[in-house]
Amino acid sequence: MEEIQKTRELLLEKLESLEEKRSILRAPELRALYGKIKDQPEDQRSAYGQAINQLKQDLENIVSDIGLKTIDNRHPIDVTAPFDVNAALPELLPTENGTIHPITAEIEKITDIFYRMGFEVSESREIDDEYHMFTSLNFPEGHPARDDYDTFMTEEGFVAPAHTSTMQNRIIKARKEKLEDGESIAVLAVDRVFRNEDLDARHEHTFHQAEGIYVGKNITVGNLVATLKTFLTTYFGKEVQTKITPFYFPFTEPSFEFSLSCPFCEDGEDCRVCSSERWIELLGCGMIHPNVLKEAGVDPEKYTGFAWGCGIERLVMMRYNIEDIRHFNSGKLAFLRQFK
Ligand SMILES: [Zn+2]
Repeated sequence: MEEIQKTRELLLEKLESLEEKRSILRAPELRALYGKIKDQPEDQRSAYGQAINQLKQDLENIVSDIGLKTIDNRHPIDVTAPFDVNAALPELLPTENGTIHPITAEIEKITDIFYRMGFEVSESREIDDEYHMFTSLNFPEGHPARDDYDTFMTEEGFVAPAHTSTMQNRIIKARKEKLEDGESIAVLAVDRVFRNEDLDARHEHTFHQAEGIYVGKNITVGNLVATLKTFLTTYFGKEVQTKITPFYFPFTEPSFEFSLSCPFCEDGEDCRVCSSERWIELLGCGMIHPNVLKEAGVDPEKYTGFAWGCGIERLVMMRYNIEDIRHFNSGKLAFLRQFK
């Protein structure tokens, strides 16, 4: 408990100097506290966990208070701006006229679960190059697997990423010294991805992915399955069964398709979510290919790891039983208002 108090003081001090105040909610010191819950004596664990949640809540309150104050104190500074600077500042709209987009809200929930599991949360890029899209991921030049990704490219040769795996090389490379100091790499990268798709109820040209990467010593497929299962059980709020079936991706070996037991199936009833197949294919995953580790400067003889890429819309559709992916970007208020 003393430790939590110390961390509280430390974080409040840190907050003073932070430009981006919200980043305090993802401070490694706070994450470290969550990791210590399991080391507490059993009878103190729940009180310890509650004290950390309280600290996080307090920080959230402080951060949103600062945000409001900053908005209140805005002054027009450009005197040449084509509006009357003497006019009163526009008032903020009352909150009932707007809500956070359901995808943004779900991303917060998803990243929060992984954060509590010890993952750092980072962003991807919405424009990238061929090296990160293909070469660093073990797609040799001219390999037909490159054609499986029907991506958008600019005339200058940049790529609109078709998956968040474009971040694997950067994430591993940036943390390889830490890895050598005995610290595992555990990162979740979330962002938009783009595909040249024929649009229908299950396909959009623009959607979101969450890329998970874990590299350390003696990491196995068992760790991969346990991590995803823990996440899904927490996200859906009920125990789910999972299974993996062999698949092919150039950047993982072995590669799998990961399915979960349909959370909507009732015993023996017809189910329209899974067409009564009882399993839903959710995401692609596997053990990071030795060539991908090598390309990022990590010795695959010493370290192993796993990675997955999960479509966020798909997960959210499953959670709320949404039948058409196109609703998310449709701007239909009737759809959005259901998520208030
Ligand atoms: Zn079902």
